[in-house]
Amino acid sequence: MFETVIGLEVHVQLNTKTKLFCSCPTSFNHKQNTNTCPTCLALPGALPVLNKEVLHKAIMLGTAIDATVNKTSYFDRKSYFYPDSPSAYQITQLYTPVVEHGKLQIDFEDGSHKTIRINRAHIEADAGKNVHDGDISKVDLNRAGTPLLEIVSEPDMRSADEAILYLKKLHSIIRYLDIGDANMQEGSFRVDVNVSIRPKGDKKLYTRVEIKNINSFKFIQKAIELEVSRQSEAWEDGVYDKEIVQETRLFDQTKQETRSMRGKEEAADYRYFPEPDLLKAVVTDEMLERYSVIPELPDEKMARFVKDYGMNEYNASVLTSSVEMAHFFEAMMSENITAKNALTWLTTELLGRLKGELNISNSPVDAKKLGLLVRRIEDGTISGKAAKDVLDYLMENETDVDSVIDTLGLKQVSDSGAIEAICDTVIALNPDKVSEYKGGKDKLFAFFVGQVMKESKGSANPQSVNEMLKTKLG
Ligand code: ADP
Ligand code: MG
Ligand code: ZN
Repeated sequence: MFETVIGLEVHVQLNTKTKLFCSCPTSFNHKQNTNTCPTCLALPGALPVLNKEVLHKAIMLGTAIDATVNKTSYFDRKSYFYPDSPSAYQITQLYTPVVEHGKLQIDFEDGSHKTIRINRAHIEADAGKNVHDGDISKVDLNRAGTPLLEIVSEPDMRSADEAILYLKKLHSIIRYLDIGDANMQEGSFRVDVNVSIRPKGDKKLYTRVEIKNINSFKFIQKAIELEVSRQSEAWEDGVYDKEIVQETRLFDQTKQETRSMRGKEEAADYRYFPEPDLLKAVVTDEMLERYSVIPELPDEKMARFVKDYGMNEYNASVLTSSVEMAHFFEAMMSENITAKNALTWLTTELLGRLKGELNISNSPVDAKKLGLLVRRIEDGTISGKAAKDVLDYLMENETDVDSVIDTLGLKQVSDSGAIEAICDTVIALNPDKVSEYKGGKDKLFAFFVGQVMKESKGSANPQSVNEMLKTKLG
């Protein structure tokens, strides 16, 4: 029997305002090759200067993964030629990275956990982009020199599922820290998967294959599964040594296969050497103190939701599944409403109405409005049923909760005088039912409530009606 061994390298694009070694903006929606300067174009004589914001974000990540943040780290030059890299080398950190020896806990459905060790996280510069247009390829250097943090795990994962749990956890941490937008489709969270197999019980590491740049969790899962079967079949067929070589493969989603892309370069091929144009990167005590105070992470938030709001783990995990969702919920809670109603109105009512292009981030109804809507139910202004109409209206119209309640005439009558008058009318109209009720036919109570609600055209507050009828009928 075989055991799967997986190690992951994740490139996270950091959301700094400017690039790693120059002051060009990092936004990509601009016209091609406009966010460039002599430094990121690698023109002779231009010198890089480290953007401190990158160190700040590295400290935040290091804190989140319980790692050592090196007070001094260094940059190295990795030589290779690609059309989208005008310098023909990449500035990275090989020998002393900014962050080392971290860990991340993954959680299984049965409630058990496993710790995945993180070898390092180092800073490096991104390349530009090759844009293929029919027979012509063009190079856009707007992205060249954008800061990346490459987060390298130890080969601690033993299945595709574990790899996905690790990636989702890391992804979520990046989003909670807000150090990158971690959009897989847009390439701001890029994953290289290293896969090998070995006979169960064997401790040594066998030949690994690296599958590059797969842009969804689903495809990563699939690519690992395919690669594991390819390697196990080769072993069983006695051709493992011949067929499984250290190389870079790519995942072809249409053909559902991994395919050799190029032989794996050895470190020597890159002719690494210390970057002569840059000073060492220094993390000062001040920086460390300031940036090691990080926002609440998903696991902590989840535990707090369970504790503070008495909700079950499942609901807490739904609410913390994305940072947007968690923040939305917390903003609703600042309207002083119960967690149970906030949960239902967010996850069932609002999410149920967010269709097509709409999502929690661009929802036409924000957390404040939804929170207030729930408060209007809780303070008896409107019924839950009426609130659904209000929400429908708010999805289509940019206005506020209270004016919609007025416009649609949905205010409940809680005024005891008005309710008493209706109750009196209903009692007067039904003398027979009143005596039957008084004679012990308790079920008739619902009849009276129904009549009063009908008489009020549904606007009476049911709770006030109940109370009033109880007093009147004894
Ligand atoms: P490189 O930068 O050349 O890809 P690294 O030594 O940085 O090489 O390792 C890359 C990744 O490969 C790490 O995540 C590591 O855990 C993983 N890895 C190393 N050996 C194996 C193996 N035999 N099987 C699976 N993953 C491995
Ligand atoms: Mg690699
Ligand atoms: Zn530049």
